[in-house]
Amino acid sequence: MPAIADRLQNVSVSASAAMTQRARDLTAKGIKVISLSSGEPDFATPANAVEAGYAAALAGDTKYPPLDGTPALRQAIARKFKRDNNLDYDASEIVVAGGGKQIIFNAVMATCNPGDEVVIPSPSWISYADIVKFAGAVPVPVDCPQQNGFKLRAEDLDAAITPRTKWLFLNFPNNPTGAACSRAEMKAIAEVMLKHPHVWIMTDDMYEHLIYDGFEFCTIAEVEPRLKDRVLTVNGASKAYAMTGWRLGFCGGPKDLIKAISNVNGQNSGGTSTITQAAVAAVLDGPQDLLKERAAIYKTRRDFVVDRLGEIDGVRCHKPEGAFYVFPNIAELIGRTSKGGRRIETDTDFVLALLDEHHVATVQGAAYGMSPFFRISYATSMERLDEACGRVAEFCAGLR
Ligand code: PLP
Repeated sequence: MPAIADRLQNVSVSASAAMTQRARDLTAKGIKVISLSSGEPDFATPANAVEAGYAAALAGDTKYPPLDGTPALRQAIARKFKRDNNLDYDASEIVVAGGGKQIIFNAVMATCNPGDEVVIPSPSWISYADIVKFAGAVPVPVDCPQQNGFKLRAEDLDAAITPRTKWLFLNFPNNPTGAACSRAEMKAIAEVMLKHPHVWIMTDDMYEHLIYDGFEFCTIAEVEPRLKDRVLTVNGASKAYAMTGWRLGFCGGPKDLIKAISNVNGQNSGGTSTITQAAVAAVLDGPQDLLKERAAIYKTRRDFVVDRLGEIDGVRCHKPEGAFYVFPNIAELIGRTSKGGRRIETDTDFVLALLDEHHVATVQGAAYGMSPFFRISYATSMERLDEACGRVAEFCAGLR
């Protein structure tokens, strides 16, 4: 076979996608698997989005879109940034792409040269490091350990920045830990960043509306306006509005950076589906009550899962402020052997044995850069969570 490009050599297949596929393979064999591996809301896309997409298609809004997004959608996004984040972005400071993932990919491609460094608080969403490597740049993880509530400490951030640092990536509420930053914690991060004017800051606010117990979401450009001309504020429709399959992400940032991202958009896509853009404009401008209603449901699920996991010997589960994940510590279970005779040396061994023997799909902490942990997505029904927690408890009780 002719050769594949070298740049793919260090880029891995997403571990959560791999686990989801493994779960599907078992399901295809007739096994009743409970999949808690994918970060995907189980709710339906709001009807006003579906109706607007349908109306756009019927009205013939089916031609190539502008590369930076339709004016109607960019104006709706500008209103969203003002309403939710108190941020003033003009429509010309906003660009749309096929998911938050594509926005981040295009931003990295638009800015990173080989050897540039990107500081990534760890554990982190799987794709950040792979996207950075794709550009020939170097991911620099900064540990945010469990004893710090999985949060980024100012001194650890400061120590990680070098003259080669091109970006700091922020993602709070966080995938995989669910940790969120208070205003004071974000202010401390901002203070460090004011000292390093050569560094861009990308804040991935995908989970902004999934936050519980009155914890208030904040985003860095609003907390420290002096940083705004170096900040790319990224968000999307997938998690907040249960629109993962529609594929739409967006960002606000300084005009030159936005223009560069739009330029990359023009080469790796022909713009984002016009039908999706009409749907997202409608949902952003429509009633927002569903965000609170759904957050209340996620909170009930989080409390249930944290309580149930807390009853299991050897599992230490932190109660996260947001997102729809928990990230339990399984250090006490390492070195044991499962009922099926599998030795658990790592968190990868743990999740594979759990899937094969008790048919619950989760993702190993190693995939997010921190071990020994595993990630559970609780974006599923209480019945399934109840059954899954029972199976995890049974599996752990069988470890000798
Ligand atoms: N950012 C984070 C932190 C995520 O967890 C995900 C999806 O899991 C994304 C971005 C991607 O979102 P999108 O569906 O908009 O590409």
